[in-house]
Amino acid sequence: MANSKITCEFYNKLKGTKKLSHDDIKFLMNIVRKELSFLIKHNIPPVPRNYEKWFYIFCSLAEQKKELDDLELIGLYKEIYEEDHQSIEISAEKENLSEELAEKFKGIADKLDETLKELINNIDNHQEKIDGHADKLEKVKEDITLETVSDAVMEILQELKKLRAENQKLKNELKSYHAEVVSLKEELSNAKREASIDFLTGLVNRRRFERVLEDAIRDRKIRGYPASLIFVDIDNFKKINDEYGHLAGDIVLKELAKVFRFYLRANTIIARLGGEEFAILLPGIEIKDAVKVAERLRKIIENRDIKIPVDEDGEKKIQVTASFGVTEIREDDTVESLLIRADEAMYKAKKSGKNKVEVQ
Ligand code: GH3
Ligand code: MG
Ligand code: MG
Repeated sequence: MANSKITCEFYNKLKGTKKLSHDDIKFLMNIVRKELSFLIKHNIPPVPRNYEKWFYIFCSLAEQKKELDDLELIGLYKEIYEEDHQSIEISAEKENLSEELAEKFKGIADKLDETLKELINNIDNHQEKIDGHADKLEKVKEDITLETVSDAVMEILQELKKLRAENQKLKNELKSYHAEVVSLKEELSNAKREASIDFLTGLVNRRRFERVLEDAIRDRKIRGYPASLIFVDIDNFKKINDEYGHLAGDIVLKELAKVFRFYLRANTIIARLGGEEFAILLPGIEIKDAVKVAERLRKIIENRDIKIPVDEDGEKKIQVTASFGVTEIREDDTVESLLIRADEAMYKAKKSGKNKVEVQ
């Protein structure tokens, strides 16, 4: 059962009225940190809805002390929220959580803010006292005696000492905040750089795919193991966006990814290279079989009804076609030469009227 896989006890704590302990806050911050870094890495806007859904997953993993890689995380997300109707139970049950969570987070931010305010107040207080003494001295400077001066000076010295200690404390605190921010920033930019999944479709992205191609070329060179590559570009995709909107375009992209995943073998690597372009690596497959695979996919796509939303509640079925370029990996290929050849084949299919499979 999908939702038995994820439970988040901590949610109850957040819902409760009891104050969070220091350890709770630490635990929470850890989840928040991991989640935010993941969301940013995959370009998922951290709006409350997304935030809450992913929070639930990260919380559950943290409680089980489990680590999943990004692909597994996305798989889990889909299992819970997209493909399984039990997800509806989860979201219904947790409907009013966003607000509560938001409140708790605000509480933490407020706490930090208070600490800073307190420190600043302290400094102000010392400053005031010193100013008071200075004023006093100013007023009595006509009839200054040794005792009046030495008392005042001692007090001022005392205040200065305290002020210096507070300043040091504040400085250290700010330093550690700063270090925290710097390391978080670094973490986030690394995470972004290392992203390997296209989030819209859940497919491998160009970066990762090029690494896969390097391996496939090496296998061809060293072991003589064949592999073929298929390039796919949706026909007249711009028109779909123009006519039905960008959201409909996104649905079409997701639908194609679904088709590829469903109809291709498990060892096939499917990538979205960008825009409406996909690439498929078929390990162990020679060109004549790769052409058959491409032809089969072409027909499936052509005949598939894709439901897209129109108006308020309306729905419309549309069809799309795609052009395919097929090539086989050669011993002397580089990633670049291979990609160029597959692209040339695809371009041939476009030039000869689209919705075709061509070979190079
Ligand atoms: P052709 O048949 O020659 O391939 O024409 P085309 O319209 O499919 O190709 P073109 O390159 O002219 O347009 C591609 C369009 O894809 C333009 C761009 O706005 C759109 N696009 C790129 N990325 C995305 C995306 O992530 N979502 C959506 N909805 N549209 C996208
Ligand atoms: Mg294109
Ligand atoms: Mg296109």
